[in-house]
Amino acid sequence: MKILVTGGAGFIGSAVCRHLIADTDHSVVNLDKLTYAASLASLAAIEADPRYRFAKGDICDRAFVLQLLEAEQPDAIMHLAAESHVDRSIDGPGDFIRTNILGTYELLEAARAYWQRLPDARRAAFRFHHVSTDEVYGDLPLDGGLFTEDTPYAPSSPYSASKASSDHLAMAWHHTYHLPVVLSNCSNNYGPFHFPEKLIPLMILNGLEGKALPVYGRGENVRDWLYVDDHARALALVATKGEPGRSYNIGGRNERSNLGVVETICDTLDRLAARPGAGPRRELIRFVTDRPGHDLRYAIDATRIETELGWRAEETFETGLERTVRWFLANEAWWRPIRAERYAGTRLGAAPAP
Ligand code: NAD
Repeated sequence: MKILVTGGAGFIGSAVCRHLIADTDHSVVNLDKLTYAASLASLAAIEADPRYRFAKGDICDRAFVLQLLEAEQPDAIMHLAAESHVDRSIDGPGDFIRTNILGTYELLEAARAYWQRLPDARRAAFRFHHVSTDEVYGDLPLDGGLFTEDTPYAPSSPYSASKASSDHLAMAWHHTYHLPVVLSNCSNNYGPFHFPEKLIPLMILNGLEGKALPVYGRGENVRDWLYVDDHARALALVATKGEPGRSYNIGGRNERSNLGVVETICDTLDRLAARPGAGPRRELIRFVTDRPGHDLRYAIDATRIETELGWRAEETFETGLERTVRWFLANEAWWRPIRAERYAGTRLGAAPAP
C-alpha cells in the first residue's frame, strides 16, 4: 500500500513513518506544514529510503492536497496533522480551530473528491484514518471507570474540543458520503523524539540540567501512558485492518498520577545520570498553580483493538520510560537545538527556579 501520512514530522507521525518504512512493505508520503512542533531530524533514519517521500504543505489548502493525492495515488490517508499542546490551546485557541477543525474539513473534502474518482476496487479498499485522543471523552473520577468507544464526548479544553469536532466531521463524512473512515482515540504518548515542552521530556531535561520540576496542583491528575512505538503499531493496524465507520480506543493500561510520573523520572535519572555531590532529584519538584479546567483522570478500555485487531502494548510504563530516558541521554544533538531555539516557554516552562 501507499499511505499518505499527515503530520509525519511530528512526534507520533514520525514514529508512524519510521514504523511503516522499517517494519512493513508500505510506501509513505509525509505531508507536513513544518510548524514549531515538527522535526525533519526525527525522520533521518528513513529519509533516503526510496519508499519514503516528504511533501511540505498545509492540510487547510484543499487544492494543494487534492493535487498531491492525484499525483501520488495513495491507498490510504493517516491523518495526524494537528495542533496538539493543551497549554498552547488555552493561551491561543485560534490555530487549533484552524488546523484541527477547518484543516480536517478541507482534508476530508480533498480525500472525498479523490476517492470518488478511484476505480471501483481501489475505492472499496481505500481508508481515511482519523487519529484522535481520549481527551474528547472529558475526564473520569479518580476512583474508577474507563473510557470505552461508547463513552459520550465531553471535551474540556480548546484542544480536546477541536479534536472532538474533527472526530465528528470524519464520522459524518462516513455516514453521509460513505467515505471509508476509521477513527482511533489514544491515551497520552511518550517516547523518543517527544517535543521538549510536553510533560515527560520537559521533566527529563529539566532534571538532567538540575532545574525545577514544575508539577500542576498537587500532581494528583492521572493519565494512562502509552509508549509511542506501541501507538504507531496500533495505528498501522487500524489504518489497514480497521472496519469503516468504527472507532478504536488505544491505551497502555498504565495509569499514573503526574506526581508519580515525575518521581519515577527523578529516580531513573538518579540511577542513569548521577549528579555527584547533589541531592536526589525529587528535591527539584515544585508544585505550581493548576492548569485551568485540568481534567482529573483519563483511562482507556482497549478491549476492542486487542480482541478485534490483535494489538497489545509491548512496553510497560517502567520499560518504556527507561528506554525514553536513555534515548534523551544519548540524543542531545536532537533536543538541544529545539530546547534552545523553539521551546516557547508555556505554562510549565514558566515555573520558578529551584
Ligand atoms: P505534534 O504536535 O508533535 O505534531 C503535529 C504535526 O502536525 C507537526 O509535525 C506539525 O508540523 C504538523 N501540522 C500542524 N499543522 C499542520 C497543518 N495545518 N498542515 C500540515 N501539517 C500540520 O503532535 P503529536 O503529539 O505527534 O500528535 C499527532 C496526532 O495524534 C494529533 O492529531 C494528536 O491530536 C493525536 N494524539 C496525540 C497524543 C499525544 O499524546 N501526543 C495522544 C493521542 C492522540
